[in-house]
Order: sequence, then C-alpha cells, then structure tokens
Amino acid sequence: MLKPIHYVSCSPALAACQRLMQKFSLWLCEANVHAADITPDNLKARMPSHIEAEWLWKFLSRKTEGDTLLRRSCDIANLSNPEKQGLANWINAVTNLAQHFGPTPPPALPFQYPNGWASRNTSWTTFKNLLVAFYEVGFREGLPYRADGLPTDIAVEQVTYEKFVTEFRNTHKLDPHPDSREICVLCGGELGKPEVDHWLHKASFPLLSICDNNLLPICADCNSGEDTKGQKPVHNTGDFTDWFHPYLRHPDGALRLNYVLPDFAVKCTSASPTDQAKVDNLDKLLNLTHRWTLEFKAEYRKKQKELSDLKRRSRGPDDLAALQAWLTDYSDSLLDNEPDYEVHKVLSDAMLEPTRLEAWHRELQSLS
Ligand SMILES: [Zn+2]
Repeated sequence: MLKPIHYVSCSPALAACQRLMQKFSLWLCEANVHAADITPDNLKARMPSHIEAEWLWKFLSRKTEGDTLLRRSCDIANLSNPEKQGLANWINAVTNLAQHFGPTPPPALPFQYPNGWASRNTSWTTFKNLLVAFYEVGFREGLPYRADGLPTDIAVEQVTYEKFVTEFRNTHKLDPHPDSREICVLCGGELGKPEVDHWLHKASFPLLSICDNNLLPICADCNSGEDTKGQKPVHNTGDFTDWFHPYLRHPDGALRLNYVLPDFAVKCTSASPTDQAKVDNLDKLLNLTHRWTLEFKAEYRKKQKELSDLKRRSRGPDDLAALQAWLTDYSDSLLDNEPDYEVHKVLSDAMLEPTRLEAWHRELQSLS
C-alpha cells in the first residue's frame, strides 16, 4: 500500500454482484425454501430483477469440479433448518466487512467456518464452491451488470474479469505513456504480469470472492512470492484494529521507509506511533523489509559498479565534494513514477549521509 489505491469505474458492478450473491445464498437458507423451489420463476420472483434471475439460472447450469452449480444450490437448500440459520448468520456477518473499518465496528468477523464445520466438511465445500464459481466462472464470462452496477443482459456492456483488471491497471498507471512500466500498488516494485489478489482469501470468505473492497491486481512477488501474502490472514482472529486495508483503511502516507546503515537494510516505520502495529503487520504480511532490503542492496551494488567503472576510466568524482555532487545528481534523477522509487530514494539519502559518504570515498580511493 505504498501507492494510492482507488475504486475503479466498474467497482459498482462488483458491489452489485456481491449483493446478488448474498441475496441468493440467504434465500437458499430460508426455512421454507427447498431444492424443488429453485426454479426460473422463483428466481424471477425473489431476485432483484429479471435480468439477474435469468443470468443466475444460466449460471446454475454450469459445472465445476464434476457437479452443476444447481446441484450445489439444491444441497444448500436441503440443509437442516438449524444449519441454514447458522449459515445465514455467518453470511450476514461476513458481508458487513466495510463496517469493521468504520467508527463503530461490529464484533469480530467470523473467521471460522459456519456451524463449526471443518474445512473439508461437505456442506462447507459445497457452499464455498458455489460462491467461488461466481468469480471463477461468472466473472470470467461476464456479470449481469454494467460498470455502474445496473443490470444488463447485453454482453458487450457486462463487466468481466478482463475489463476489471484492465481498468484497474489503467487507473493506477502512474505514467500514462503506453511504454512506461507499471507499478504494484502494494510494494511499489514493478507490476509485471499482475495477479488478482483477494485481500480476504476466497477459500475462507467465498462471499467476498467478488466484492469491490476485496479485489486488487498486484505483483506476483506480493501475491504468491515466497513467504508473502498467499492465503495469510489480514486480521487478528477477525479483528481489524491493527490492520490496514487497501480500500477501507489505506495507510495514506503512514508507511515510511528508513535505512539502517550498520545493517545496510531498509526498515518499515510509521509516520505516527498509532499506526506502527498496522505497519508491522503489513510488513510481515508482504515480507517488505526483506524484499526492500534486497532491492536496496542491489541498487547500491549497481551504483558501486558505476563508480568503479568511472574511476577506472579516470572519469569518476575524485574528491568528496565531487562524489557528493554525483550522488545528489542520482537522487535528483529519481522519478516517483518508476518502480522501486522509494527504495532508491532511501538509498540515495543513506549514501549522502556524511559518515557513509566518507566511507564510500575511502573505498573508491583504495581502488586506485
Ligand atoms: Zn507488489
């Protein structure tokens, strides 16, 4: 969250889909709804519009992992009433995610499965696979919504995974030139081929598999790199007090980088002590200290080689003042819309510190 993160113009379509997922799953949990009630006519009567009902009926005919989504819906509708009630309570609690970041947060988000189900419980996997299919099947093919969230059955107007990713990338491109490098909004490194992250993982919170607050394209290192986000929780047992959130509680400048010269490392700090726990959690989640330190050292090595090369050709800065001027030029040349800007800036600051500058000057002298 080193860079600003914005909702995009098709975010209302994602929010509308989440409301549909909630409405449909709560309807399945009603005591008097059973498998035989899942029909096109009943969907038309109970879903917000005919367009959404028709899309849903077509969607339910799709198969995932050997079973139709209609079959999975029937299994949910046929649960016992106490199980349905437990599931409905869980659905309502999970879909109020935004309130956890408001002035009066509700009790902790239920981070365990409903009804005390285990992760491999058949009812849970049925429910999870049904809801995740909205993302893996429905979103890929097109949601029944226009960008502004209004229902549509016109295919070219429907919001898709592809449209969302393209729009997110375009909105967050710091240099709009088509040839410029894109930057990961979380770590500030190069975006490369982005991966769509579910901030709260969809395997544990399938109701948030399509949600305007929960999806963001990020770099592969942040999403699935070694010891980075993956499926790690972004809360303390359902409590978000000590956590930032990409959309609902952005650090907005609170996340700072500092150098630690004796260790030649980068440290994540907070602009205000009240945010330090949140910064520490984000650092651990994305392994930022380690990753930024690697970049810090690699860039230092690059500058070291450049100077050694200049020195060998007798063109390098030959006294302390010239070295300082050379480094000041480097610092001034850094662009804040290029990948790793913050790490390179903190390196140039570190190198210009008098003791480090002198040490580096001595090192260069010894090369001759
Ligand atoms: Zn990243």
